[in-house]
Amino acid sequence: MNKSRYSLLALVLSFGACAQPQEPEQAPPPPPAPLLSGVADSIYVAGAQAEVKSWQMAADSDFVRLADVVPDIIQEIRYATSYNFVGRPIPGYEVPVALLTRRAADSLAQVSRDLLAQGYRLKVFDAYRPQRAVLYFIGWARQEADTLMKPYFYPDIDKADAFRLGYLAHRSGHTRGSTIDLTLFDMQTGKEVDMGGPYDYFSPVSHYWCRDGVSAQQFRHRRLLREAMMRHGFQPIGTEWWHFTLIDEPYPNTSFDFPISKEVL
Ligand SMILES: [Zn+2]
Repeated sequence: MNKSRYSLLALVLSFGACAQPQEPEQAPPPPPAPLLSGVADSIYVAGAQAEVKSWQMAADSDFVRLADVVPDIIQEIRYATSYNFVGRPIPGYEVPVALLTRRAADSLAQVSRDLLAQGYRLKVFDAYRPQRAVLYFIGWARQEADTLMKPYFYPDIDKADAFRLGYLAHRSGHTRGSTIDLTLFDMQTGKEVDMGGPYDYFSPVSHYWCRDGVSAQQFRHRRLLREAMMRHGFQPIGTEWWHFTLIDEPYPNTSFDFPISKEVL
């Protein structure tokens, strides 16, 4: 077998089973981020108070309500509800409102205009995520007996493996405020488009390149979303078709922990 046939075999293997996604555009994981905790109008850096900004969503704030910048966005903030892989509202999500850095929201507005012209609206499931929610997910994964939502979100894996398999992260980009989980809403049918697998489904079928169980049309939908996001400065990941991070994010090394609450809005 010559070298080119080996290459072809490797290509077939990598696309066949979906278990080991090959992701040419996937960025290396960011360095560990320092944790900032929001308290009133101040934040704390490694135990020492350092005022950085107000958490009020004022006109000059670095964080904005996504709906203020992208008025036609549809919001279904799953972690503020019981319909998520845990089965309960998640700490830090006191109100179902998507927040992002202004820079990420402005870029998403361009994505929205682009896709509106093609007959689609954006539907967001998660945006800024307080670090306390990430810590809650870590604790949840350790509680083996709590499998309330297993049939719906992770029927084929042991929840203890969710981090090792890449479905959850100890350091989530969402805490940096420029990462978003979203899908497309078809204005003609009045429904979400079919991506070949639901949001937050812990399965290889969530991998962007998976073609095992994903139809050509479902893959076209994934590609439509991904290419629109990439045209306007967002980086995808291979393991989740719905997850994107602004490449030029304003806080690449900072995790935030202010709750999404009436007080900060
Ligand atoms: Zn995500």
